[in-house]
Amino acid sequence: SAEAIDRIVIIGGGISGLSSAFYLQREAERQGRKLQLTIVDEAPVLGGKINTLQRDGFVIEKGPDSFLARKQAIIDLAKELGLEDELTATNPAAKKTYIMHNRKLHAMPPGLVLGIPTEIAPFMKTSLLSLGGKLRAVMDLFMPAKPAVGDESLGGFLERRVGTQVMRRIAEPLLAGIYAGDLKKLSLKATFPQFGDSERKHGSLIKGMMHNRKATAAAAKGKAQGTTFLTFKKGLTTLVRSLDQELGGAERRLGVKVTEINKAASGYTLKLADGETLEADRIVVTAPAFAAAKLLEPLVACEELKEIRYVSVANVVMAFDKKTFGLDFDGSGFVVPRSEGLHITACTWTSNKWLHTSPDDKVLLRCYVGHSEDQESVKLPDDQLVAAVRKDIRETMGITAEPIFTEITRLNHSMPQYPVGHIEKMQSLRSRLKTELPGVWVTGAAFDGVGLPDCIRQGKEAAAELYSVSN
Ligand code: FAD
Repeated sequence: SAEAIDRIVIIGGGISGLSSAFYLQREAERQGRKLQLTIVDEAPVLGGKINTLQRDGFVIEKGPDSFLARKQAIIDLAKELGLEDELTATNPAAKKTYIMHNRKLHAMPPGLVLGIPTEIAPFMKTSLLSLGGKLRAVMDLFMPAKPAVGDESLGGFLERRVGTQVMRRIAEPLLAGIYAGDLKKLSLKATFPQFGDSERKHGSLIKGMMHNRKATAAAAKGKAQGTTFLTFKKGLTTLVRSLDQELGGAERRLGVKVTEINKAASGYTLKLADGETLEADRIVVTAPAFAAAKLLEPLVACEELKEIRYVSVANVVMAFDKKTFGLDFDGSGFVVPRSEGLHITACTWTSNKWLHTSPDDKVLLRCYVGHSEDQESVKLPDDQLVAAVRKDIRETMGITAEPIFTEITRLNHSMPQYPVGHIEKMQSLRSRLKTELPGVWVTGAAFDGVGLPDCIRQGKEAAAELYSVSN
């Protein structure tokens, strides 16, 4: 290397940017390289979408609240950060989840995995579907597999294999928490590739998911059995804080936006909104696709990034006194299909699902608002938003108690919608960047998975990628 020091700037201090930084630092140490790392974020604090609020003995997540336990990248990171003891699982007594149908809560039949039945007997008993809907779903067991094609829409695939009722009444509301999207517009390959794999390998979605479930159960033997979700006892910001501490050597520019990237004689310069200029040999861009596109567009074609639509969502957290609440929960909450015509898309019985979040004599609820076809509710003024949510929980659960407090969080343009063909599009974008902007790597929730573990894995990949670029 001509220069003794690698100057790397990371745009975005969310989990993708912080993980990139952490693994870059580790890789530099391993290779004995000198690294000058700078993290720039327009927000005044690190963490991006991760945002835990501690209030009156409650642990309130305003963004993500937990993660899939079977995804290794986040478990590995927690271990590397010495945070294993901080992890906590969902209340084992709150396993039940409900789905609304005709304004009533129906228990989710046992064996549903991502909305797909893996146990036929309880599925045939559910009151969520008509007999015709159930028979249509199990036809999947006998229908021939479609010859392997490229990508298709998640909704189209589900409709084709298990029918419209399962898609609209079960899968869409369950998956809404992840994408808030229109399943008919989301890429199958980029969201749930295991569904397509099931059809190809087992000739049936249901058979494939049955097989996966057995394999997962076998692999989980001896580990935390039955836990699907984990979080940190003091909230997800535990992870952010710990990463922040580990990145002692990195410089932070918080509360300031990167407004421009330019090519320099050697490497790049980045212009910040406060007028300052940073120099970099390499850049990791973890900003949302629309923000990344703004920065890269003057230098390289990036239509693919502009094609990724973002949905806005909001959530309303409400705290109550147990004494006046008047309701006991026997599960973790419920999800609401769009056809129900409510403002809320889901309601988590947080104090029951996550025992660490609330004092024993209190109740905590979190209601979600907004999806791809409802971008109006999220714009309601605070008082109207709270009134709409309270009306929904009064009409569906009979809750009339006055909350002790409410916390509203609006996440504008926060949920990326991977379009059909997403994976190929991102590959072609990246290969274009490789030749036209060497040393610039784009990653994060817009690319290869929105879940926290996926973002961490992508951060690790970013580090490997940047340090494999010859220099
Ligand atoms: P972000 O967290 O968005 O970070 C990008 C950062 O870039 C931001 O901080 C932004 O300020 C900064 N930035 C943008 N442009 C610029 C610029 N020009 N200059 C400087 N800085 C810039 N995942 C789960 O695993 N479990 C969950 O329970 C879960 N729940 C969710 C609930 C909601 C409401 C939402 C919105 C998401 C949820 N997710 C969940 C998904 C997960 O939270 C996100 O995908 C993940 O946090 C994204 O991390 P990121 O670092 O890629 O992006």
